[in-house]
Amino acid sequence: MSNEYDVVVIGSGPAGYVAAIRCAQLGFKTACIEKWLTKDDKTVFGGTCLNVGCIPSKALLDSSHKFMDAQNHFEVHGISVGKVAIDVPAMIARKDKVVDQLTSGIKGLFTANKVDGIAGTGKVTGPNKVVVTDKDGKQQELAAKHIIIAAGSVPIDIPPTPIDHETIVDSTGALEFQEVPKRLGVIGAGVIGLELGSVWARLGAKVTVLEALDDFLPMVDRQIAKESMKILSKQDLDIKMGSRVTGSKLSKGAKKSVTVEYSDKDGEQTEVFDKLIVAVGRRPFTDSLLDESVGVELDDRGFVKVNDQCATNIPSIYAVGDVVRGPMLAHKGMEEGVMVAERLADKKTQVNYDLVPSVIYTHPEIAWVGKSEEELKAEGVEINIGVFPFVASGRALAANDADGMVKLIADAKTDRILGCHIIGASAADLLQQIVIAMEFSASAEDIGLTMFSHPALSEAVHEAALAANGHAIHIGNRKRRK
Ligand code: FAD
Ligand code: AMP
Repeated sequence: MSNEYDVVVIGSGPAGYVAAIRCAQLGFKTACIEKWLTKDDKTVFGGTCLNVGCIPSKALLDSSHKFMDAQNHFEVHGISVGKVAIDVPAMIARKDKVVDQLTSGIKGLFTANKVDGIAGTGKVTGPNKVVVTDKDGKQQELAAKHIIIAAGSVPIDIPPTPIDHETIVDSTGALEFQEVPKRLGVIGAGVIGLELGSVWARLGAKVTVLEALDDFLPMVDRQIAKESMKILSKQDLDIKMGSRVTGSKLSKGAKKSVTVEYSDKDGEQTEVFDKLIVAVGRRPFTDSLLDESVGVELDDRGFVKVNDQCATNIPSIYAVGDVVRGPMLAHKGMEEGVMVAERLADKKTQVNYDLVPSVIYTHPEIAWVGKSEEELKAEGVEINIGVFPFVASGRALAANDADGMVKLIADAKTDRILGCHIIGASAADLLQQIVIAMEFSASAEDIGLTMFSHPALSEAVHEAALAANGHAIHIGNRKRRK
């Protein structure tokens, strides 16, 4: 194997592996370096997303959802299943199998596309040079016309609750519990905290979420955030806003617990948990990645500094995914990976950062794209809002899953769709049609004039678009227009 490449990608998470595959498709000789090792010391590709992020969390969300359905929601359909039990090790083993299948899939894609997957830790030692150190300390130097940094992110630790990987865990540890904790604490009511809290609450844990901020989900449209707080609070998730964790004490003895200290509006509080998940966010991972002499600039929060095309200050070096600014989402990194690969091939590809969809995979799911009502009002934009509740959807009622709503916001002057915010079953998939519509600058009327299958959840999107112009059929309209 020659050590000279057109492109060397560091990191094989969604940003890195997609960049590598697209580069190879475009005819570049490409390598992708990965340092991730399994418990039995094997290199795996796929990064956080496949190994300890998007995929395993969704596997556990799906398993726990089925458990919850069997326990609470079958009876109404006339189905009785007796006492429902959960075998946690079997659930975790299934999750591991899904992860194995997908990470092996990336290896297969590298082979099919002729990407050299290289095991080891990469360090950028020059504008066109990367040194790879494998797990036994053996080094090799790669020459690269272009380098793409896709080193991702890792969980943030906070001093009050040091991770001991047993009682106090990060998101990775929360995917590995072998039994349902009786009392589970979660620090952080962000996306990861709510998803992992939901998994264990559905299986019977008494879950308390401690969140320092007073506002729940500040990045979400207020109406949707308020609705989600109402629904999630009915699911054995005790979400305590305005509660800043300040310390913790582990108990001694065989069966460990942790006493968490936090302050809220009433003063200093304590609460005892059998397990504690610290989900206070993630930081870009650039540890031992860049030789200082190369001069790649980082910003003040440690992200690799890039422009809109993901170019760093060094002409041959690019960076994509969680290691650069913007939302830490797999699909955002993937699109950046494609953009950089295509720009290296002289295409004019661009990422539309205004249309990055976001999803929280609780039940119901929360999904949004574009701007919220509050953002648009603050900008002084005149808007029309259409809201359609799922309780008015035949398909949602037939499924006995009718919590939530679709909220669609359009410019009052041009009718162009400016945002869509959904809380409801399958919100992620429902949202995607509006992401596409917005990419094509569609108006609410365009959606209103499109025929939707009946009965389908997507009809709620159709009706919300009609409601934005005051002529929804299956609900009363806030503003009636012709
Ligand atoms: P990563 O996936 O972090 O991959 C970076 C890779 O680079 C890693 O494999 C790392 O080992 C490797 N690496 C780092 N430094 C080096 C080096 N020097 N040499 C060699 N290799 C190196 N996002 C979503 O969009 N949807 C979700 O549902 C979702 N759920 C999530 C659930 C959880 C519990 C977590 C933790 C995250 C979730 N995310 C989700 C976020 C998502 O996982 C990240 O946004 C995504 O993985 C970022 O991709 P990336 O390629 O930038 O980095
Ligand atoms: P996210 O960045 O979406 O993963 O969310 C992480 C959440 O953790 C944020 O809402 C933070 O406000 C919250 N957080 C950070 N530190 C603390 C702390 N010490 N106590 C409680 N919540 C915290």
